[in-house]
Amino acid sequence: MSASPMGITVLGATGTIGVNTLDVVARHPKRYRVVALTANGNVERLVAQCRVHTPEFAVVADPAREGELAAALRDAGLQTQAMAGADALEEVARLPQTHCVMAAIVGGAGLLPSLAAARAGKRVLLANKEALVMSGRLFMDEIRKSGAELLPIDSEHNAIFQCMPRDFGDGLERVGVECILLTASGGPFRDYAAEDLEAVTPEQACAHPNWVMGRKISVDSASMMNKGLELIEACWLFDTTPDKVEVVLHPQSVIHSMVSYSDGSVLAQLGNPDMRTPIAHALAWPERIHSGVDPLDIVRVGRLDFEAPDMDRFPCLRLAYEAFRAGGTATAILNAANEVAVEAFLQARIRFTDIPRVIESALEGIPRGDALELAQILEADRAAREAAGAAVTRIGGATRR
Ligand code: NAD
Ligand code: MG
Repeated sequence: MSASPMGITVLGATGTIGVNTLDVVARHPKRYRVVALTANGNVERLVAQCRVHTPEFAVVADPAREGELAAALRDAGLQTQAMAGADALEEVARLPQTHCVMAAIVGGAGLLPSLAAARAGKRVLLANKEALVMSGRLFMDEIRKSGAELLPIDSEHNAIFQCMPRDFGDGLERVGVECILLTASGGPFRDYAAEDLEAVTPEQACAHPNWVMGRKISVDSASMMNKGLELIEACWLFDTTPDKVEVVLHPQSVIHSMVSYSDGSVLAQLGNPDMRTPIAHALAWPERIHSGVDPLDIVRVGRLDFEAPDMDRFPCLRLAYEAFRAGGTATAILNAANEVAVEAFLQARIRFTDIPRVIESALEGIPRGDALELAQILEADRAAREAAGAAVTRIGGATRR
């Protein structure tokens, strides 16, 4: 461990991952120093976090709220400098005094700041899976070019990383990895019949059996799109293909994923379902630190169950497979359309079962590019949001009639 504390920027500090990150960081004041915190618009929570962690910078994404943030920081007697807007999010990801960036903004909004951290050669703790789904090849290229360190925060990918040999970057085949077993809880609707999925509410979708998460990822877990995004994420992070990634339902969420080797060994990472474990792992890697998570009581867990996923009841998983195979901007379109559909479902404008319909209609309606340029990815994202918005109006309107 170095003598001076490691500087950290937390993008999306006010969200579930951000709050868990600050919880771990606060346990190790000699080790970590918070340089910058960002939020979308929750000035109150951001300022409360600034009181505890005294960062140099606090950023709100919404430029209209800079004055409000500056005044609140002043009133709190803090030296923290207020900043606002998209450029400021990227700026605090690049600061020289920041060594490590937690990329925990939800959705495509996190792409540019996450990419800025990658380009600046930081240790990037990647929770923002949507960034990688949108721009996989480009993102991984930027990481390699800058010499940044990429550590996965998604519990499954963090587990896979922990079960991989150090030199997995040389190619999975060369290090004896046969396949990845990506576990999924199955979400709150795992046992629902197809017809019962039509009437489920946003509240039911957000009540995940094992994890407490933001609303967007909670709906993704319920639709299995989360596993679809994670499949794509795994392919980019570990330089592999979907035929080497097997999705396995594991309702207890105690095994966070597994790696299967050519000699028949299967390595798994286990723990209580608490995001502070992968966060602490990635913060301290290759060392280990306390995370505040209780030790796993395996006897109390008692049993571990596994089953195959059902892509007929959960077509979002199939759409993700297809988008990855189609390549190029297809996954950016998938991601953007899903964001629009999830938001529309949360606002009760469409039914839960309409989510894959909206996504499919965007995937069918938009020309594809090779996704080698950022501009092309951003244009696919924009066009997909437009197409998905139109599909929501069409499908939602038809549903209400
Ligand atoms: P959340 O909704 O709780 O928090 C999102 C954060 O992003 C908040 O700080 C919010 O202010 C910020 N934000 C939202 N929109 C923004 C915008 N347009 N511009 C700038 N900032 C914006 O979400 P979460 O559950 O913490 O998830 C964050 C990311 O981590 C997601 O990509 C999610 O898929 C991933 N992730 C979360 C979990 C989990 O357990 N919560 C697990 C694995 C991966
Ligand atoms: Mg996950």
